Amino acid sequence: MKPKLVIGNWKMNKSFEEADDLIIEISEAIEGLTLQTGVVLCPPYLYLELTTDHAEENEFSAGAQNCSEFENGAFTGEISAEMISEIGVEFCLVGHSERRKYFAESNQTIAKKVDQLLKFGIIPVVCCGEQLEDRKNGNHFQVVETQIKESIFHLNNEQFESVVIAYEPVWAIGTGENATPAQAEEMHQFIRQLIEKKYGTEAAYSCYILYGGSCNAQNALELFTQQNVDGGLIGGASLKAKEFVDIIEAAETVLKDN
Ligand code: PEP
Repeated sequence: MKPKLVIGNWKMNKSFEEADDLIIEISEAIEGLTLQTGVVLCPPYLYLELTTDHAEENEFSAGAQNCSEFENGAFTGEISAEMISEIGVEFCLVGHSERRKYFAESNQTIAKKVDQLLKFGIIPVVCCGEQLEDRKNGNHFQVVETQIKESIFHLNNEQFESVVIAYEPVWAIGTGENATPAQAEEMHQFIRQLIEKKYGTEAAYSCYILYGGSCNAQNALELFTQQNVDGGLIGGASLKAKEFVDIIEAAETVLKDN
């Protein structure tokens, strides 16, 4: 089993001071743990530089929650992949279901963002996941397959090596109702098979496929124990230092036990 990756998505939460406190609390809690688990904090844009400053001396990386599909120019309000790369950001979420829902992001837009991020050396964390309706209709595999094919399968093998995938069933995000470990494992295995068909066995094994959707300190251990679950994308539970660190520790435990 490879080391896990745990990413905290703070969404649009925390004041500057609260963000600073949370980063310090997490840093102090993980200091000296000699973690094998990768840890990434994704605060709002305005706190990214604060996060990269702290990340330099600590065992985590900074991630953005979004970037522009365009490289530069007259796109008022946008932040480019190049800009976030310049301040030392290493990861960026793309295609989160909230962006798909509230900002009408399509798979095609997501593909352009992925290209921008790779161009500037940032690891895209590409989110996919079905709506409750899709699962009820038995269409969940088809929906996820289309999302993945249309947003990342245009990449060549070398580019694909830098991509992280996060499976986040929309019905599980922020609802307190996580996918069962068996449901997560089933979908992760399906995604890995898609990757294997397109990019080969080694690429499929190496690719990080994270689970997201009401993952917390209580259910992380069981979710991370699944063979094809390489870690988690954590929303609400990443806003409290103790809970987030407990999730990181669950990832460490799974690695030690396997
Ligand atoms: C998310 O927003 O990516 C997420 C997984 O949220 P939550 O953990 O709160 O369900």
